[in-house]
Amino acid sequence: MVDLETALAKVEIPRDQTRDPLKIYNPMPVSQLQKIAPDFDWTAFLTTAGLPAEGLADRKVDVREPEGIAAMARVLKAADYGTLQAWLAFHLADNAATYLSHDFSDASFDFNSKTLSGVAQQSPRWKRATRVTNGAMGWAIGKIYVARYFPPSAQAQITSLVQEVKSSFHDRLEHNTWMDEPTRKAALNKLDHFAIQVGYPKKWWDYSNLVVRKGDVYGNAVRGAAFNWQHELNKLDKPVDRDEWGMTPQTVNAYNDPTMNEIVFPAAILQPPFFDPKGDMAVNYGAIGGVIGHEMSHGFDDQGRHYDEHGRLNDWWSKASSDAFQKLADRLGAQYDAQEPLPGTHVNGKMTMGENIADSGGLNLGLQAYHDSLHGKPETKVHGLTGDQRVFLGWAQVWREKDRPDALRQQMLSNEHAPAVTRVNMPAHNIDAWYDAFGVKEGDKLYLAPDQRVKIW
Ligand SMILES: [Zn+2]
Repeated sequence: MVDLETALAKVEIPRDQTRDPLKIYNPMPVSQLQKIAPDFDWTAFLTTAGLPAEGLADRKVDVREPEGIAAMARVLKAADYGTLQAWLAFHLADNAATYLSHDFSDASFDFNSKTLSGVAQQSPRWKRATRVTNGAMGWAIGKIYVARYFPPSAQAQITSLVQEVKSSFHDRLEHNTWMDEPTRKAALNKLDHFAIQVGYPKKWWDYSNLVVRKGDVYGNAVRGAAFNWQHELNKLDKPVDRDEWGMTPQTVNAYNDPTMNEIVFPAAILQPPFFDPKGDMAVNYGAIGGVIGHEMSHGFDDQGRHYDEHGRLNDWWSKASSDAFQKLADRLGAQYDAQEPLPGTHVNGKMTMGENIADSGGLNLGLQAYHDSLHGKPETKVHGLTGDQRVFLGWAQVWREKDRPDALRQQMLSNEHAPAVTRVNMPAHNIDAWYDAFGVKEGDKLYLAPDQRVKIW
């Protein structure tokens, strides 16, 4: 069974090679998928998943990695029947383990969390129960969360902060030194078209058809998953719903969806350490301002830049500007490749490229939005710290975390985000103002000569 998993993993394209959206956009009718990957019964698979049988052969699907998919189909065909049965039975039990008795949930914890990530202790039952309920009917919980914790004043405050960061970005694009005029114009147009969503979506989900039974944890989880899958199926053949969100309001996170040219900030990220409505604004600019700038910059990172103002894959770059971007991105990648937060394990600069460009853009934008907010007034010191120092500290506070070495290693090999310490230090040492703010000099650990600093957004 492990041999089968290993064989499947080996034919998959490595993560750092899947970042080019043009390479992984491969729409084709199911009939063609059946031709390029004939070793698997796609009709049976897709109709079992709930796609209508009628017109299936002509239905277009995006086959992200045609060669990888064909190779996986070959591996599955070559596997013996007993192995396949055991493999599926294992995954059924593994996926269900959280909802089952201690024998299952402890075994799952021992392997998935303890062995793979070095976690010492299972989180308390109430936390796991909340997580499961959140997964099954997150929008119902979100509605209660917003009513309790997200006053309209917070929505107004954040919306105006987003507008401030956006106009700082506008300004930076206008003064950008490496883009030519036609590309600059197109970039400004894309920025102007950003859809900005804050707090919670315009409409809530209706869960009245979801059956929840007391004492039936596993049944509830299965019905919850089926309900969510049916929601996805209902979107087939309908126009895109631009009001639907990809994260619930109680999620401490934010995202940029390049296919919608939209950035979304759920209500739960709008609290300390990201944002404190009563706190020091310089810290807020470094924290939530940096995060807002991060999400905006994603629209212009190595992936996002391939999408236009309407979210279509469309090359709006001149050759010269595209080459200039690539050169800067390569230099930034080399900086991250050189980082070794765990002895023997380096950051993968290519796999983390989009996040690194967004971090660097985000911190620059947070800092500039803070400067713009002063309108020429001198900055005041708070607790002996200058405004710029507080902006940088605000950014650093957001990424404070503790990692076990195993978890960190796993993150560095598979996650598109660099480790937190790298996310704080790398963007800062590419910004000139950081040297002035903290008096960083040649010979200091994080010193970069001015011509070595990479400035993208
Ligand atoms: Zn990001």
